[in-house]
Amino acid sequence: MPPRVLRVCALYPDLMNIYADRGNLLVLERRCAWRGLGFRLTASGLDEPLDGAAHDLFYLGGGQDRDQLLCAEDLLRHKRKGLHEAAARGAVVLGVCGGFQLLGRSYVLGEQQIPGVELVDVSTVREDGPRLIGNVAIEVQLDAGARPRVLAGFENHGGRTRLGAGEAALGRVLEGHGNDGRSGLEGVRRGNVIGTYLHGPLLPKNVWFADWLIAAALGLDAAALAPLDDALEDAAHAGARRAAGV
Ligand code: GLN
Repeated sequence: MPPRVLRVCALYPDLMNIYADRGNLLVLERRCAWRGLGFRLTASGLDEPLDGAAHDLFYLGGGQDRDQLLCAEDLLRHKRKGLHEAAARGAVVLGVCGGFQLLGRSYVLGEQQIPGVELVDVSTVREDGPRLIGNVAIEVQLDAGARPRVLAGFENHGGRTRLGAGEAALGRVLEGHGNDGRSGLEGVRRGNVIGTYLHGPLLPKNVWFADWLIAAALGLDAAALAPLDDALEDAAHAGARRAAGV
């Protein structure tokens, strides 16, 4: 049987990539390779169409407000339909920070309203007040009955994000600010569409989550993935937790 291939589409990898979020893609690539799974990375930039059926996992990283505006316009024009089709068939869509904000309804910056692709019912407003910066840890439960796990990382955002009624957070803040510094909620999750403010980058510090994403994107149970020697990765996770005080 030919190896399974994880087909990843990185959206705007040049514009939406702060805090070395590209490391998230490297982790996916290495963990597939170590298991003998295929990996195919495609980039989709400005003015390029998006085939929602051609990829299993779509990744949108963090960005400066100015770059986010450029991408938001392009997302609506060229990629909204493909992303909705992909999400509807269970593909993984992962948005980090600015990418998370763009998965929602809108990002309001003073007079300006940046529209999102509305894959999830969240709204972000750049309020007066300090940026929400620091190490962060959240508790998440991705599967019913599974034990709660910790995601640890770093956040730096001016936007405050609120979830619409009925929309679920990715996790509960253990330490740090989370979506708005008040609600105790972090990120969003609707099926396999996930948004989070955790950079750091996210996946090198939380490889258990990388495996969950790989499995979800391939339609497998995470327990079906071959175990790896994660001594270094576990140390990175422990370090990120320590930094957050958890
Ligand atoms: N520009 C957004 C904000 O400041 C997102 C920043 C980021 O991706 N780190 O809220």
